[in-house]
Amino acid sequence: MPISFRERLAALAEKHLIRERYTRQGTQGATISWERSNADLGALTTSDGRDGTSLVNVSSNDYLGLAHHPALQSGAITAMASHGNGAGASRLLSGNFALLDELENAVARWLGFEKALWFSSGYLANIGLVPALAEEGDHIFSDALNHASTIDGCRLSKATLHIYPHRDVAALERALQHCPNTGHKFILSESVFSMDGDIADVAKLRELADQHDAFLVLDEAHALGCYGPQGTGIARAQGVTPDVIIGTFGKALGSQGAFVAASQDVISWLWNRARSHVFATAPHPAVVGSCLAAIQLMPTPEAAARRANLRRHIDRFGAASAIVPWIIGAEADALAMAKKLADAGYWAQAVRPPTVAPGTSRVRLVLSAAHSDEQIETLRALCQRYGFAQK
Ligand code: PMP
Repeated sequence: MPISFRERLAALAEKHLIRERYTRQGTQGATISWERSNADLGALTTSDGRDGTSLVNVSSNDYLGLAHHPALQSGAITAMASHGNGAGASRLLSGNFALLDELENAVARWLGFEKALWFSSGYLANIGLVPALAEEGDHIFSDALNHASTIDGCRLSKATLHIYPHRDVAALERALQHCPNTGHKFILSESVFSMDGDIADVAKLRELADQHDAFLVLDEAHALGCYGPQGTGIARAQGVTPDVIIGTFGKALGSQGAFVAASQDVISWLWNRARSHVFATAPHPAVVGSCLAAIQLMPTPEAAARRANLRRHIDRFGAASAIVPWIIGAEADALAMAKKLADAGYWAQAVRPPTVAPGTSRVRLVLSAAHSDEQIETLRALCQRYGFAQK
């Protein structure tokens, strides 16, 4: 029988798992405007007659509101003027260029590591990093709620995988104790978890790693820029140094791309062995220019003020981080709640399987320094009215 993708889509729709495609007009920031062709938005005109295509955006990881910052834009333009467009090849062939080296050095200095290596996205960083580090005969210990990119990196690795319950350091300790003493051990965790917004006990992870000769790999995708001195992340805020940090430029840093920060030896190893680095064309100079401008902003008073703003919004919600999960349960119910919020002027996404476990569908609210106090206060009042319960 010929394969029918229409039938597969119908099965998804039946389970309320279809991912809609909405198209933005203009830039995104504290508010977002949708093209009118997104007819199923359900918010084209609100009950009080406002144009519902422009909504307060609580569904973006642009935590500091840097995505349309003029410094990032001029960084991009200047880089393009001096370095042109496409890099033409992977960095191992002829694609490497001075600005990219400069960016990596700036990242390493900012985070206090010897070296950093560019990847074209956080997804590509994790799927390149994990199999390059953990080889056949090695053991990976991975938090149950790690991001899909880490999960896929684990799948690509030939190491033995041990998944420990979310943030359960006692279970991790038992797993490490029972692990045969062959091969190397790697502990993989996020610092701020992407869908739950809760925070790992990185100091305890470091302690366990030291006790068991394990390598600690920390994904700070949702933390860098936002927390810790000069936005250097949760590990630094907790006073510990992981062996490897993964960061992305696509969230608080307002651009695109990612990096791994580590020792010179680890980075040289990845340069040789991380397939998503070796076999990928080097980035467009404009992207690199905007990333460098974002890193240069991190130690400034302006960035500190943005972080303080974000912290105030987080505290107002009594949340652990800028990610506020509103766990609803059934997929259809989470979709209905997101629609209610859209009708009230707030764009929040219903996150459903496979991003989260079945039965834990949620509205994922994301706070940003770009939001005004009034926008956050109104959101909080709305959430209360609709029965929001803190996790
Ligand atoms: N790691 C984590 C924890 C993430 O949440 C994400 C993005 N959602 C990534 C990595 C991937 O980063 P990028 O969006 O740059 O591919």
